Amino acid sequence: MSKKTRHVLGISGGKDSAALAIYLRNKYPELDIEYYTCDTGKELSETYELIDKLEVYLGKKITRLMAAEDSSQDPFDHFYNIYGRYLPSSSSRWCTKKLKLDPFEEFVGTEPVISYVGIRGDEDREGYISKKTNIQSIFPFRKSIWSEDVITKLLKNENIPAVIEIYNFLFKDKDLNRIIEIVNQPVSTRFTIQQKLNLLLDQDIKSFNAVVFEYLKLTDYPLGKESYFPLIDNDEILVRDDIFKLLRESGVGVPAYYEKMEFEIDGKKGEYARSRSGCYFCFFQQKIEWVWLYEQHPDLFEKAKEYENLKDGFTWNQNESLETLSTTERIESIKREFVNRTNKSKTKSPYLIDILDDTEEEGCASCFI
Ligand code: SF4
Repeated sequence: MSKKTRHVLGISGGKDSAALAIYLRNKYPELDIEYYTCDTGKELSETYELIDKLEVYLGKKITRLMAAEDSSQDPFDHFYNIYGRYLPSSSSRWCTKKLKLDPFEEFVGTEPVISYVGIRGDEDREGYISKKTNIQSIFPFRKSIWSEDVITKLLKNENIPAVIEIYNFLFKDKDLNRIIEIVNQPVSTRFTIQQKLNLLLDQDIKSFNAVVFEYLKLTDYPLGKESYFPLIDNDEILVRDDIFKLLRESGVGVPAYYEKMEFEIDGKKGEYARSRSGCYFCFFQQKIEWVWLYEQHPDLFEKAKEYENLKDGFTWNQNESLETLSTTERIESIKREFVNRTNKSKTKSPYLIDILDDTEEEGCASCFI
């Protein structure tokens, strides 16, 4: 007997995955979604508060996954010691694999799984795609809800006749001339898969989704085994403003660390916040976020500093220890630089994270979405 397809959604503690859970619960209550969160043991208290509130709103348990759960230490410290006290960094990100991805893959096992990912319609990235063939990612906020691997397979040139056949089969009574013209144009260096995808989506998102769903039946993707998938009829695209609106209107609220706080430097007012969820010491933070941690959660800042003292030569920031960063002169200079940058920023968004994001690295999709 074939295994039942599971639907799962990872709650990172960030705004986008929380908003996605709210959105899917309200719009597609028929989907029986299992919620989970991977707890590194080093999250901010604001993250735990968000997860508790979300659990009440969803009326469903959010399963807490913890790597190395039999260890006497929390997940991060357990692997930190195994890795010889090497702090993770953007070039050696063992933490994401060990604390987020491995527990997730263990949680889903070998059953077919649809994993919903909260990457927004205004973001240009793909996020984590599991190498496990039983996991299929779906992106409900984007214009294309499909993962890159599905689109690459569907739109490869050898598939042109099959795609035309599916369009003709599903939409006999529709004028398909322009769509067929687009499908017939081979992908090349001058006409990329992305361009072809956009043109087809611009014609009609719902009919494109129906074609993909039909195509998946010829493959081993988890959705290929399903007879019905309601998101095929979804043509909404949600961007950052929509996410904040969803969170506020639901009553769950925006994670508290996003809320701007005022500070003063050289008689000028500035505002800071934290831009992302994840471990309090995450190396993806900007300097101004470290200052926020130092001033708003001094105990956590001290703990982050202790890790730097445990092994010579290791710092969370590439070129500066937290000891140096937390001197009065350095904090003032970081604030001054940030206020100047904020004033010069072309971003007129009311959200500070837009300004922080302007220079933010992509970061860790599993931790921050
Ligand atoms: S939040 Fe940062 S430190 Fe924590 S697991 Fe993710 S990438 Fe690693």
